[in-house]
Amino acid sequence: MRRPMVAGNWKMHGTRASVAELIKGLRQLALAPGVDVAVFPPCLYISQVIEGLAGKSMAVGAQNCAIEPFQGALTGEIAASQLQDAGCSLVLVGHSERRMLLGENDGAVARKFAAAQSCGLTPVLCVGETQAQREAGKTLEVVGRQLDGVIESLGVGVFARAIIAYEPVWAIGTGLTASPAEAQTVHAAVRAQLAAENADVARGVRILYGGSVKAASAAELFSMQDIDGGLVGGASLNADEFGAICRAAGN
Ligand code: PEP
Repeated sequence: MRRPMVAGNWKMHGTRASVAELIKGLRQLALAPGVDVAVFPPCLYISQVIEGLAGKSMAVGAQNCAIEPFQGALTGEIAASQLQDAGCSLVLVGHSERRMLLGENDGAVARKFAAAQSCGLTPVLCVGETQAQREAGKTLEVVGRQLDGVIESLGVGVFARAIIAYEPVWAIGTGLTASPAEAQTVHAAVRAQLAAENADVARGVRILYGGSVKAASAAELFSMQDIDGGLVGGASLNADEFGAICRAAGN
């Protein structure tokens, strides 16, 4: 039985003041004990969030890490070891905004994935197709290739200590959501791809759906067999909405 998870990606949003407000709202949430909840603030605010959420059972993660695991000469980057030292337990790797706007390729994503695990962080591997790729019928091929980028360089066993987020690019920040059936098809294909190499790993890995998840759409998405929760962007900036999504994962 996989434990559901809801993760909030705050992207490049926030100021010290707005982060303090959001922490206040998050602290007031009544959370279901059976759901793992995590937030991913911008790096600058990670310490503020970790201190602000002390005693609340919410994990804190980063939105990115460097390709090198340990501190060194890599201007502007943050090492997984530094994130671990700051109190993070998770890190997003391969978010589509980074793949598309910053040219992050599968090779870099695999190195970040490995760096995260080598420092004891759980990587959340983001995969997903663009609108054009979906229209061309290439969704499963694209997502499969992104997953293979990690499997081929690190082996399927690494997914015993990782999370996958299927996030169709066309649904991110657009208000469009994959239907539960569309999302389930991709989640099942991802699990089958892993199962072809290791059935236990495939059975255990959590696959989150991301792409304009709201409280109104969450319950139906999370009811699908292979959808183990959500990676939530915009809606995670509103504590009440985020709380409602977390509750939907517990039902
Ligand atoms: C995301 O950025 O990971 C995301 C899913 O964003 P949104 O929920 O805003 O579409």
